[in-house]
Amino acid sequence: MTDELGIRRGHALRAAVEQGLAGPAEPVVGLLDVTGIEQSAAALHAAFDTPGVAVTHTFAVKAASLVPVLALLGECGLGAEVASPGELALARAAGIPADRTVLDSPAKTVQELREALALGIAVNADNPQELERIDALRAAAGGTPSASPIGLRVNPQVGGGSIGAMSTATATSKFGVALRDDGATAWVLRAYAERPRLNRLHTHTGSQGVPLELMAAGVKAAYELAEQVNAAAGRQQITVLDIGGGLPVNFGSDETAPAFADYARVLRAEVPGLFDGRYGIVTEFGRSLLAKNGTVLARVEYAKSAGGRPIAVTHAGAQVATRTVFVPDAWPIRVLALDAKGREKSGEPVVQDVAGPCCFAGDLVAKGRALPLLESGDHVALLDTGAYYFSNHFAYNSLPRPAVHGYTVLPDGSVRFALVRAAQTEAEVVAESGGGLPPLRRTGA
Ligand SMILES: *Cc1c(COP(=O)(O)O)cnc(C)c1O
Repeated sequence: MTDELGIRRGHALRAAVEQGLAGPAEPVVGLLDVTGIEQSAAALHAAFDTPGVAVTHTFAVKAASLVPVLALLGECGLGAEVASPGELALARAAGIPADRTVLDSPAKTVQELREALALGIAVNADNPQELERIDALRAAAGGTPSASPIGLRVNPQVGGGSIGAMSTATATSKFGVALRDDGATAWVLRAYAERPRLNRLHTHTGSQGVPLELMAAGVKAAYELAEQVNAAAGRQQITVLDIGGGLPVNFGSDETAPAFADYARVLRAEVPGLFDGRYGIVTEFGRSLLAKNGTVLARVEYAKSAGGRPIAVTHAGAQVATRTVFVPDAWPIRVLALDAKGREKSGEPVVQDVAGPCCFAGDLVAKGRALPLLESGDHVALLDTGAYYFSNHFAYNSLPRPAVHGYTVLPDGSVRFALVRAAQTEAEVVAESGGGLPPLRRTGA
């Protein structure tokens, strides 16, 4: 399967260049492997599939906020984890049903909560104040109770992984109710006792850089808390455990490691009660479903040299690979050197920098990387960029959001592309930058 991913990608890169998807007018595009996405979804379903256990897999929309992708995942049986009104609108536009939609966010407004309850989507409250807001909205709704399952997000404070910014279960994380703080467990027990309809519990231990054992420890802490709540209630009050996402991705090779099956195995060993049929399970994976199925393809505009260092100036920089550029040690990515026809270049590796188009010196997607020497008219492929790279555009230099195409490789090696998102036009860039509004007037001061 690993080889097939690379083979499909190779076909797609050549075809994208040949068909002019990455041409002078649009010198950078995103490509998504439709078959790969289907296989990732199938692997996720297979890993958690357990007789007698209702499992709902939602996709963390922030990882690829593209309506046709959400719709494809919906066809594959997934739902959506949303964390803003915009993400909820995308999930709805993709036809994701309410009973497969979960709203998480640390800063939900009253209006967002009201809309969520009206739609009947699941809501995970982040903190006591939010629970009170939900209580008030429910009381105001009177006799027509919302269908929304309500959960509480807890931070098991099991510790961080290798990337601080991605670690949500540290002692002082901003997310959820910090379980190990004084009095927190007692408060949680009371919160559930006072709210017979509070029926879910949520935790998300982190994203990228968090080892499986630590993720499982977070889930275990949530499970044990649910057991306490249910024992205190004398019934199965908490019926669903939402275990979040966060499976790390290997950015070093085409191998999918760890796999969903590896994580499910660790969970079955560490938290067997999760799978014994008393709880439904919700998951919220993002990166691990999409990362390896996406590639950024960009043209090399110029190849130059400075201080003895060859530098390829490409059209893929901080605007698409924002984290990689700003935090390169935490987010290194593989770069393939491709020729003018999109074929992988051979030739002696030469240590060079691969730069982007942004006007600041640090705009490098790879620094001092040994690759076949890139020349003007060549291309580069940034690998494993299917998650977070297309959806978190950084509008530096008013660079447009690039087009994204899905691809399917037919048995004869030919490639069919389907547009997932059109490139942003200059007119759209002007419009979102206040174009059309009157100029600020001089005050005459
Ligand atoms: C970001 C996020 C996810 C997805 O994380 P991945 O690392 O992309 O799997 C899931 N749940 C919540 C609450 C998140 O914030």
